[in-house]
Amino acid sequence: MFYPIKAMDIQYSLTRSRKRKKTVSLQIGHHSEITVQAPVHTPAAEIQRFIEEKQAWIEKSLRRQAALQASHPKKAYTTGEIFYYLGEACLLEAFFDPLENQGVVLHNKRFFLNCPPNRQMRKYYLTAWYRKQARAYLTRRVDFYSRLLGLTCGGIRITAAEKRWGSCSEKNHLSFAFRLIMAPPQAVDYVVVHEMMHIREKNHSSKFWNLVLEVIPDYKTQRLWFREHQQHFDL
Ligand SMILES: [Zn+2]
Repeated sequence: MFYPIKAMDIQYSLTRSRKRKKTVSLQIGHHSEITVQAPVHTPAAEIQRFIEEKQAWIEKSLRRQAALQASHPKKAYTTGEIFYYLGEACLLEAFFDPLENQGVVLHNKRFFLNCPPNRQMRKYYLTAWYRKQARAYLTRRVDFYSRLLGLTCGGIRITAAEKRWGSCSEKNHLSFAFRLIMAPPQAVDYVVVHEMMHIREKNHSSKFWNLVLEVIPDYKTQRLWFREHQQHFDL
């Protein structure tokens, strides 16, 4: 279920879930959209109280996001812009040579993008490149950890999610955002291991986190990295 509601002056969407969720939680998306998730039978007054308690935090987060967005204007896909690949800052060189193949080549931390000078087309080619790299890279990392941990997943899917880096379904299908490969290898591995440990534990219990800790001793640092480097994932 998904419907827009207004509490105080805060506009948000409410999702009621029958599965897994036991507490009310709140998320702020990339575009300042607020989502509240609650167990299916939570009274409206309780949700209202939860939002009110969080109001100061929500306002602070929205202000921080607005400031961050102001300092990182939308990509124009022109020469000189920075795009990240496995944690490395790579400089874009956009040009158009109609006699050569169109698309992206990464060489020496430079993206060479051959494409007509059109923002949408440039974005399309870069996205296609990232998706392809993400599929190859993440498949290799999942294979590596499958062997190391003796875990078998039901398949890998690459998504266009902007905020959710990965997920593991009931049937152990793993999904990863293609943007994930903009992060450094150790941060990518944390997400891979996190999702793969859900093959064993379908929750975020202390047992789950201990399993993650055994493989990624500094997983807390990696989690924090994602929170502090949102601007790396612009595309
Ligand atoms: Zn998880």
